[in-house]
Amino acid sequence: MTNKKTKIVATLGPASDSVEAISAMIKAGMNVCRINFSHGEIKRHDETIDNIRKADKNLGTNTAILADLQGPKLRVGKIGNGGKELIDGEVITFTTIEAESGEDKLYMTYPEFPRDVKVGERILLDDGKLTLETVSTNGKDEVTAKVIHGGLLTSNKGVNLPNTKISQPCITEKDAKDLEYVLTKNVDWIALSFVRSARDIIELRHLIKAAEKHARIVAKIEKPEAIDDIDDIIRETDAIMVARGDLGVEIPLQNVPLIQKMLIRKSLKNGKPVIVATQMMESMIEANTPTRAEVNDVANAVLDGADAVMLSAETSVGKYPLKVIEVMSRIVKEVEKLDEIYHHEEPPAEIHESRYITNSICFNAVRLSKRVEAKAIIAMTFSGYTGFKVASQRPRAEIFIFTGNKNILTQMSLVWGVRAFFYDKMVSTDHTMDDIKYILKKEKMVREGDFTVHIASMPIKEAGMSNTLKLDKV
Ligand code: PGA
Ligand code: MN
Repeated sequence: MTNKKTKIVATLGPASDSVEAISAMIKAGMNVCRINFSHGEIKRHDETIDNIRKADKNLGTNTAILADLQGPKLRVGKIGNGGKELIDGEVITFTTIEAESGEDKLYMTYPEFPRDVKVGERILLDDGKLTLETVSTNGKDEVTAKVIHGGLLTSNKGVNLPNTKISQPCITEKDAKDLEYVLTKNVDWIALSFVRSARDIIELRHLIKAAEKHARIVAKIEKPEAIDDIDDIIRETDAIMVARGDLGVEIPLQNVPLIQKMLIRKSLKNGKPVIVATQMMESMIEANTPTRAEVNDVANAVLDGADAVMLSAETSVGKYPLKVIEVMSRIVKEVEKLDEIYHHEEPPAEIHESRYITNSICFNAVRLSKRVEAKAIIAMTFSGYTGFKVASQRPRAEIFIFTGNKNILTQMSLVWGVRAFFYDKMVSTDHTMDDIKYILKKEKMVREGDFTVHIASMPIKEAGMSNTLKLDKV
């Protein structure tokens, strides 16, 4: 298994969803499997999830599963004859009634479109490759628009309305159905697309809680409204994704790089994992090596401090799903040699914080590990909180999490630097620390003479907040 700090999220699809392919990808450095509910049938997803669990069982790994809900993604409908050529300057008509679509009317699958869109607002098709401007709307079922930048439009292409207030809820009917299924499969992370406000996260959390499930939430940041509400979104969510694909259509392209840095900085400060997504290795969908710019992009995401870098079509439908993970792992490991990415300075906890004690323990565990050049920071955690918190300070030391909570075991695979182990013997703090040290030594994770920093909660039987720090020598 490759040992790197920055995690790799790979989208599974026809090119990569067999047990054999998944196993090879895990060995090459994949930590999280993403299942994209924008494509494919539930039956296929079901097989994929089973295959991931099988691969994990064979390899003894804890791969996380990320179910990505489509959200209010707008699309055009079916277009016959291989598509329609939109010519600059021409005015075209959209209808929200499928039966009326045809040669001269394009079907828009979003029924509220004529009510939401205003004259003069832009309509972007196919990831922004085609640009239109709204000329008129009848407020009911028809919209006309002038082609500003034309080209060939084919079936089911995505539609972005960057200036329009979309009235559709964040969790659509399709999402509700997909979510119901996903919750029966105990996935680790659920990503929500086109989040607009913290309320969207609260709503999803409510549905997960009502089903008595443990899945954590990834807020996909790909709308200007989300950027405006980012502090509250980060507070409510468990992780975020810099969803550069749609983000780069919804806001000017040149704004994406600095927003990526801002999102990473804020996530780290709040101890929430952050994924950088889309087009990282795009050319490897077809080619067996990445472009120089792509290598730089992956390297820069690691330098910015991302917890994870993501692959989409590269692994789901690309020609080289395994190779792309190998190449990505190599880039990540090379950048991780650099001192700069470690020990982010974070201000000490504030006294009024509800987790003041735990936060202070984690802060000082990382400081101490730096001072003594500890080999590992070792923590017992049931909620996972200590893992997120320690990781967010990016210690050089390995982060080993021991938990009796099976859910945490796989969830932690998304988090920078963390390796989780199952452990449920709770005799005494003394005994547990010795026992864990023994396990790590046996697994050759630590060696004679290494310093280790232990975080624990005493008394251990209460399984409460982390409140104890111990510096130890193996
Ligand atoms: P998607 O999300 O691949 O589901 O569209 C990621 C992105 O928009 O970057
Ligand atoms: Mn998207």
